[in-house]
Amino acid sequence: MHIARYLHDGEPRYGIMEADGLHRLAGSPFVGIERTGVVDALQASRLLCPIEAPRLFGIGLNYVDHIRESGSSTPEIPLVFMKPSTAAIGPGEPIVYPLEGQEVHFEAELAVVIGRRGRRIERADALDHVLGYTCANDVSERVIQKAEMQQGALVLCKGFDSFCPLGPTIATGLDPRDLRIGARVNGKQRQSSSTSDLLFSVADLVAYLSTALTLLPGDVILTGTPSGVGPVKPGDVVEIEVEGVGVLENPVVAER
Ligand code: MG
Repeated sequence: MHIARYLHDGEPRYGIMEADGLHRLAGSPFVGIERTGVVDALQASRLLCPIEAPRLFGIGLNYVDHIRESGSSTPEIPLVFMKPSTAAIGPGEPIVYPLEGQEVHFEAELAVVIGRRGRRIERADALDHVLGYTCANDVSERVIQKAEMQQGALVLCKGFDSFCPLGPTIATGLDPRDLRIGARVNGKQRQSSSTSDLLFSVADLVAYLSTALTLLPGDVILTGTPSGVGPVKPGDVVEIEVEGVGVLENPVVAER
């Protein structure tokens, strides 16, 4: 099942994306999946970021080949950071290349969407707390990142407005342990890997984060990026693809 959030007749709605259109849901999928019987035409709708203003947890250095390319050592515990909710944008929305940008990179990631709240979730129960998965682009400004990391921080470099495209939909029923993941820039393949190369699995991350904090419906965990990251510039189009989810496409535009 592919759960979409979309704008129709000026109203944001949730629906199940099927071949004949968007099957409108009553309310939020985080409360329950209840179909209204109404089908909204895809052509008359615009897909939105699948979660409105989500809490965004990021995991750094979680693919072995990316750890190697970044010259870092293997983390012993997940390297956790957060991105502000104002970074989240939907499919087709522009990634704004900021005035301060010198080296802005794309990062293809599998994003976990939490469906059921929980604290101290056991690894064995972790996937029961997941509603589904979507594609994420953990856009990062590397010059600022380097300077921030020397101070032990990761905030502005990953937190500019529009630095977290998500979508196109939330796919349910997937096994997250071996999904192909990749990125293309202007149609050229730049990243190609599998979630089977994750150092800390989805279940590990859900369990780990929830030792400290209550995970809430609509929370998003970006699970890290494989090797092949690289720069983008205004005018580029970035596509992130996760097997079983779909393709998330965003243009890059200059701030002014
Ligand atoms: Mg990342």
